[in-house]
Amino acid sequence: MSIFALYLDDVGPNRAKVLQVLKGACNSSFRELKSLLELARPRLLTGPKWQLLSVQQLLHAKGARASIEFYPEGLDVSAWAARVSTDRIHCSACGAKLFFAVPKLTTREQIVDFARSSVIANASEIASSGWIHPGVYCPCGCVTVMANFDDIE
Ligand SMILES: [Zn+2]
Repeated sequence: MSIFALYLDDVGPNRAKVLQVLKGACNSSFRELKSLLELARPRLLTGPKWQLLSVQQLLHAKGARASIEFYPEGLDVSAWAARVSTDRIHCSACGAKLFFAVPKLTTREQIVDFARSSVIANASEIASSGWIHPGVYCPCGCVTVMANFDDIE
């Protein structure tokens, strides 16, 4: 359920071959891809890691350098809340606003603030460590949805 992005670090000596690889991997026109390559470290693709790894290999074979990073902006975190909230914002049981803990987006301060103002299990541990398992939490402790991220390094 995680999402990654493929970034082009260096187009290398063969821009035309790189464009061909990208044309095969993206739904973009050559014109769009050419303007993408003008950017500094363009984001080429987003998707599951296995998918990006194959494109990365193709790019490296053409002398380019590309890297894959976790891309939390592409996650549909509202889907995490679907089971515990009808509007995906508030707890279905008590109506409180749900807290979303998203790796690399939710800050340590936000986690600490949430832990201090909630009655969830291990609240004091979470407040002192500043870490919470990624997922969705009701501040009243009614519901917890743990997101599964086994492929984040
Ligand atoms: Zn609740």
